[in-house]
Amino acid sequence: MTNISINFTTDREEFLNDFMELLRAYYPYVVIERDGDKVSLSIDQLGSNTYQCIIKDYQNPLYCSKNTINLEQNADYVRQKSDIKRHAKIALYQYLQAKTGVSLPYGSLTGIRPTKLFHDLTARGIDAEKYFTDILSVSPAKADLISSICHNQRGVYCTDTDMADLFINIPICVSRCVYCSFLSAELSKISKSVEPYCDLLHRDVADAVDMLSKAGKKIRSIYVGGGTPTSLTAEQLQRVLSPLDKVEFREFTVEAGRPDTIDRTKLQVFKDFGVGRISVNPQTFNQKTLDEIGRKHTVDDIYKIYEIAKNMGFDVNMDLIAMLPNEDFEDFRRSVDSAVALDPDNITVHTLAIKRGSALKLDGYDNKTDADLAENMVNYSIETLIGHGYMPYYMYKQKYMSGNLENIGYCKAGKECIYNIDIMEETHDVVACGAGGISKAVYLDQKRLERLANPKGLDVYLERGEDNMLKRREFFEEKFNS
Ligand code: SF4
Repeated sequence: MTNISINFTTDREEFLNDFMELLRAYYPYVVIERDGDKVSLSIDQLGSNTYQCIIKDYQNPLYCSKNTINLEQNADYVRQKSDIKRHAKIALYQYLQAKTGVSLPYGSLTGIRPTKLFHDLTARGIDAEKYFTDILSVSPAKADLISSICHNQRGVYCTDTDMADLFINIPICVSRCVYCSFLSAELSKISKSVEPYCDLLHRDVADAVDMLSKAGKKIRSIYVGGGTPTSLTAEQLQRVLSPLDKVEFREFTVEAGRPDTIDRTKLQVFKDFGVGRISVNPQTFNQKTLDEIGRKHTVDDIYKIYEIAKNMGFDVNMDLIAMLPNEDFEDFRRSVDSAVALDPDNITVHTLAIKRGSALKLDGYDNKTDADLAENMVNYSIETLIGHGYMPYYMYKQKYMSGNLENIGYCKAGKECIYNIDIMEETHDVVACGAGGISKAVYLDQKRLERLANPKGLDVYLERGEDNMLKRREFFEEKFNS
């Protein structure tokens, strides 16, 4: 293995972020520095459907890789662009692999949604698993995992319903976890805004329900996320959810999250509205780590709330995180084993990602130096969960993840979360309420989607008031009236 430092340039600015993501995935073997060896990637058009990616390594003038792409005849502009970008990344990956001697588990594949690409290739009649291994250099184990996930989505994944998903955001938490990069506000710091937020969010949800009903759109799933929605009181939750009183849906999930914010009264509010799924997120079963990462609950709280939630008839998801600070393999193994022993309906295994805005990032914490440990942890969770009857059914990747791995949601048979599948595969419109919520209008036939983001901060969201809802109505007008 060789470590290199490069100064990377490209004539395709529009693809720069994707190239940089691949280069960053190679950290610590590849470091991007202004005074590093100069490497350039350019893309030339040779014919109407033929392009060439050229990589030049100026330290080694003999190295000049030329990768020719023949695009599909009749492919539309969006597809052509994404195929050119993909092939340029393949050329860059091949260069980095040759230069460092290191292969990545996901090869040249970057981006959040590997399964979406897998579904897309399959729909085009391409053998997606073969394409992932042979063309994108994804490891056979990861290609097999992605293929199983797509397979396990059968019965829920669909592209032919006219239903929409409803997302309600409550970006408030009782304390801040050290790895958190969400724009979630600490309850004690925004206490004056909470009541006005609940009032406006109530009107926001009512407006969304009215808009969907007038458009004749049925609701497929409702998801209340955050933050930690259960940071609110039972009365506040009741007020926010009350416009959903007479609404029909296939699935209703609340990401309760922190065990110390959940109690029987709040769970009863959820029951009354027909919520079927909640999360009780341990992240780890090691008390020392919980204290270090800023969670203000005990391991006992996890067990206590889990039992209450199950006795009340909820399906429960539990989130775990691999590579938490100062945890070794044994710590993580204990957490996986403890979660499995409880037998929840869903378990989601995240791999720590250190993103901008988190306390860990500000402290200079580096999670990418022990890729082997990350891989061992994740492999243990895959084997253990599958061995105990859990099926991987959705996945996503994030930037800055330990070992360039992934987050995987597992479920017991028939316990898939519709919302999680829809949001990852981008097959359904999403109507979002609340600060930071992002609505999506999906035009599957045109292979495009449009996004509308609500203001991120509570203050701006409150300031804009009903304007947030007017904008959303305008945004969906074309979609719902077409
Ligand atoms: S519970 Fe989630 S949203 Fe809240 S601080 Fe922790 S990571 Fe951030």
